[in-house]
Amino acid sequence: MKKYELIVIGTGPAGEKAAVKAAYFGRKVAIIEKEAHFGGAEVITGTIPSKTLKETALYFSGKYEKGLFGIDRDLHREASMEDFMFRKNYVSDSVETEIKENLKRHGVDIYQGIASFEDPHTIKVSGATEELIYGDFIIVATGSYPYHPPTIPFDGVKVHDSDSILKIKRFPKSLCVVGAGVIGCEYATIFSTMGTEVYLVNDKQKILSQIDQEVSEDLVSQMESSGVRILFNTSIEKMSAPKNDQEMISITLNNKETIEVDMFLYAAGRSGSVKALNSEKIGLKLGKRETIEVNDQYQTNIPHIYAVGDVIGFPSLASTSMDQGRVAVAYIFNMEDIKHLPTYLPYGIYTVPEVSMVGITEEEAKEKGISYCTGKARYSDMARGKIMGAKAGFLKLVFNKEDLVIRGVHIIGHIASELVHYGVTLVEDKRTLYYVIGQVFNYPTLHDLYKYAAYDGLSTIAGHRVKP
Ligand SMILES: Cc1cc2nc3c(=O)[nH]c(=O)nc-3n(C[C@H](O)[C@H](O)[C@H](O)COP(=O)(O)OP(=O)(O)OC[C@H]3O[C@@H](n4cnc5c(N)ncnc54)[C@H](O)[C@@H]3O)c2cc1C
Repeated sequence: MKKYELIVIGTGPAGEKAAVKAAYFGRKVAIIEKEAHFGGAEVITGTIPSKTLKETALYFSGKYEKGLFGIDRDLHREASMEDFMFRKNYVSDSVETEIKENLKRHGVDIYQGIASFEDPHTIKVSGATEELIYGDFIIVATGSYPYHPPTIPFDGVKVHDSDSILKIKRFPKSLCVVGAGVIGCEYATIFSTMGTEVYLVNDKQKILSQIDQEVSEDLVSQMESSGVRILFNTSIEKMSAPKNDQEMISITLNNKETIEVDMFLYAAGRSGSVKALNSEKIGLKLGKRETIEVNDQYQTNIPHIYAVGDVIGFPSLASTSMDQGRVAVAYIFNMEDIKHLPTYLPYGIYTVPEVSMVGITEEEAKEKGISYCTGKARYSDMARGKIMGAKAGFLKLVFNKEDLVIRGVHIIGHIASELVHYGVTLVEDKRTLYYVIGQVFNYPTLHDLYKYAAYDGLSTIAGHRVKP
């Protein structure tokens, strides 16, 4: 039996980064993947495909110009489904190739097959053949899969989850999306940008419950003006299972309204991928929704077995999964580089328009009894915004009234998920409005939003006492 210092299960962002880091520092590492394609939800079913489809939808809708695409294929404004999916497949393939090459470059042994525990140190790989391998340490990075409530007649043709929606063969004329979280909102705006009539069924009063209320309201109004009908405080009472591709899906809502749609996307909730692991055989402790329980070092109840990424639950992001993998390796091999994730994480929501945030929202500031104030700047008032023709979008700073320390940054508009990173350092380093005002940015750039929001914040405070 082959022996390794570390075995990693799963080639998603959590597994790949853990394996590569350990190998980079000279450890003998194996990685196991059950699918033919590497990269997990990041590359195959989630992050990269959905973000590429968003960019493609923007291009086809005329909001982007061809020059931004950097490939030779001539994309037509009258998009066929093949055109629509072409760039997604191209980008996913190229990221997957990079992952495979990265693993090989670092000398990681790759096993193809389903991994399961034979005993706490031995993994069975069931692929074309069956093989047992031994690991001093094991990292489980098996990710998650879309939750399927029994009442939804998923068929992968008209009734989809976030995996099968990526394989549709034609554009839906109308689409009902259930779940106004990140995935639901992103797909609602991608399809409405492509001209599909979209209903977004949301059982709450607010979409994207974690974001600032003012940003959420602005997003709602922009989504509605681009044709998404958002049904608040609404759930599905029953729906028909279509017998063929032509038949419309009839959906009865809890308010007794009936809607008829061509396609359906259920995007509410995911569960951890633990079923194949044989975790009960070794007594690995599981939590809610098939997640694996870990401590703050990503160590499970079995000390030499660690778990990272979606399989441990919140925040379930590619961004955080990668660093959880790196942190677990730091604890396993006593490395001093990164021992924890930063306190303040950026959240990027790739809707049309994009939303991004870090730190506390106004609502959280109120709940915590923080004496706070806000400052705001609009894209359309910035020189770069005018050059871009921005008609909407803003950046809002939430800061302490007393010492002017910035506690939260909230952005809605073009490249919000890029702009937020300066905000992350402001919040993490407890910088004040005066610090922002004292910085020099390239001109013209959208970073001016920070400076103008800081000045706006100062002007909202009468008689503040802090000296520059
Ligand atoms: C539609 C969508 C959009 C998203 N957008 C974003 C975004 O914009 N930004 C962001 O940061 N995150 C985003 N995410 C979340 C992100 O994709 C996940 O958080 C991330 O991929 C989790 O990484 P992971 O390595 O834990 O798991 P995964 O990426 O799921 O990878 C797990 C891997 O393990 C393999 N595996 C599972 N069980 C076994 C087994 N028993 N044996 C062998 N192999 C196994 C799987 O086949 C898979 O390849 C999105 C997700 C979805 C679904």
